[in-house]
Formats: sequence, structure tokens, C-alpha cells
Amino acid sequence: MPPACLFCRIISGELPSAQVYADESIVAIRDISPQAPTHLLLIPRKHIPSVNEVGPADKDLIGKMCAVAAKMAMRHGVAEDGYRLVVNVGRNGGQTVEHLHIHMLGGRPMAWPPG
Ligand code: 5GP
Ligand code: ZN
Repeated sequence: MPPACLFCRIISGELPSAQVYADESIVAIRDISPQAPTHLLLIPRKHIPSVNEVGPADKDLIGKMCAVAAKMAMRHGVAEDGYRLVVNVGRNGGQTVEHLHIHMLGGRPMAWPPG
């Protein structure tokens, strides 16, 4: 794990966060700059820089991240109205933290196409 990785430091507890979920492989925190009434980040404990580096060994982990997203949507009351899952990848994708994460945005209608 790169010592400077922001999300690795948050997951280890070195940096504080508003944590809403944790299990042996995934942590969910509130985004520090929420773009919707509910804006969570689902982060694998394993340091994977982006979707580009996801490998066959991560198959179960990625599936589990989707299952945790659904669980968080239920728990935070946005499952019925709907929500958006976003994974930014690289420069054009708008990724700013190079540790894989899924944004879960809910609590308001989302526009399409995205900006
Ligand atoms: P990305 O731009 O890489 O898709 O998403 C990174 C997200 O991390 C952004 O939405 C940003 O607001 C959030 N973020 C950046 N620094 C922190 C932090 O220190 N704590 C939390 N909880 N979120 C952060
Ligand atoms: Zn990391």
C-alpha cells in the first residue's frame, strides 16, 4: 500500500472519516464534499489504483462492492427512489484519488448526460 494514499490512510484510521460501514474487505465513508444529500464512497481495503488495475482475483470483491452499495442504499433510504453509482477512472474520467472507489449518490434526481 502506498504510504501517501489518502484512502489507505483513512482505512487504516490514520486519518479521520465519517465511516458508515466496514467489513473485512470494504469500508464506506461519507464524501467530505457531498454532491447529493447522500454521498457515500465505497472503498475496498485492498489498494487497487483504478478499474484499469482490477484483475481476475478481484472478481468477488467487485461483486461484493455492488452488494454493499445496495445494502447502503436500503439503509440510507434511497433504494426505492433510486440513486447513482459512479466510478471515475483516470484523467478524463475525473478521478482525483488513485484508490478504487464507488460513489453512491442519492436523495435527489440525477441529470443525464453527466457533465
Ligand atoms: P474521485 O474524484 O477520485 O472520483 O473521488 C474522490 C472523492 O473523494 C471526491 O468526491 C472527494 O470529495 C472525496 N474526498 C477527497 N478527500 C477526502 C477526504 O479526506 N475525506 C473524505 N471523506 N472524502 C474525500
Ligand atoms: Zn490506497
